[in-house]
Amino acid sequence: KGTIRMENIRKTFDNGEIVACADINLEINPTDFVVLLGPSGCGKTTTLRCLSGLDVPDSGHIYIGDEEMTYEKPKDRDLAFVFQSIALFPHMSVRKNIAFGLDMTTDMSKDEKNERVREVAEMLGIESMLDRSPDELSGGQQQRVSLGRAMVMEPAAFLLDEPFSALDAKLRDQMRVEVKQLQRELETAMIFVTHDQEEAMTLGDKIVVMDDARIQQIGSPYEIYNEPTNQFVASFIGSPSTNMLPVEVVSTGEGYDVVGDFFRFPLSDEQVDRYQGGEQGNVQLGVRPEYLQLDADEKLFDADVSVIEPHGARDAVHLTADDYDLTAVTPQEKIPGGTESVSVDFEIDQIWLFDGDGQRLL
Ligand code: ADP
Ligand code: MG
Repeated sequence: KGTIRMENIRKTFDNGEIVACADINLEINPTDFVVLLGPSGCGKTTTLRCLSGLDVPDSGHIYIGDEEMTYEKPKDRDLAFVFQSIALFPHMSVRKNIAFGLDMTTDMSKDEKNERVREVAEMLGIESMLDRSPDELSGGQQQRVSLGRAMVMEPAAFLLDEPFSALDAKLRDQMRVEVKQLQRELETAMIFVTHDQEEAMTLGDKIVVMDDARIQQIGSPYEIYNEPTNQFVASFIGSPSTNMLPVEVVSTGEGYDVVGDFFRFPLSDEQVDRYQGGEQGNVQLGVRPEYLQLDADEKLFDADVSVIEPHGARDAVHLTADDYDLTAVTPQEKIPGGTESVSVDFEIDQIWLFDGDGQRLL
């Protein structure tokens, strides 16, 4: 049904005082599963509302296929919106709820409508509930009805704004898997909003990380985890969070040393080639918890163990070194028993460096 494009979308509120989203450039292919991910208030809902036509942007353009849609009404955009809160009509049967959009916008025959509703209900596993009223259903079943209402419209794309946030953790996990399978079957674009990075990583083929009204990075789950473009993405993605420590980068003539308050190490030749800066202070060193080695043969520094959080096969070990808090994720056998102090090394080839503006230098 065509590619969806958002070009330089900007939306403000309160006479420009609040910039809800800006410089939004996004291309969504017809079978993409795209997740908009970012903290609360970063502009995800506003971006989705602009795309759907519920909000009109201050500037920028929206295209669906070859047609400009920036100022078209929501119902003319061929997009289906599934909201955060489950908004079913309590006085209508499940069947009527699902058929609602078809009743409003098409002149399909009653038989055709019934057939479409039945097909969709079957895909969602709620076929036997069509004659019930919504309040006789569980939360997960109600959210399936909301999805069904969107699916019968056979839209060019589904827009889902934190659709599972009202569900408990276990049900949420299950719905994630279902939605992912459903999207593959439907071969229709989905744009899914969440503030939950784990949800984003499991769902998205393409993740759009937002902060402070702007897109920070667009990439596969692998890319945003392993190759963050800036400090925000490096910190926001991954749990426990990436360790960040202030350092200076000091030239040694042949290369560079990274100098922290309690350690110093040289960059490898390969890292020197990749490094985008010169000698400078006010640099943040980022290193993921899995790249801290405890009880290491080569010791960079000593740290005190404060708390050990069991996570099954691997544990999160909280450390303190020179007043800085650090976290390591490590196999249990690497955690020294009975001692409070442990030697720590970084996997140096896995470190990141960010400049004072958070842009990645290495
Ligand atoms: P998110 O969905 O990522 O939590 P939103 O898009 O809802 O973020 O909001 C982005 C920013 O715009 C927030 O600061 C929010 O308070 C503000 N905002 C959203 N809608 C309105 C509105 N109708 N009036 C005023 N401010 C708004
Ligand atoms: Mg929101």
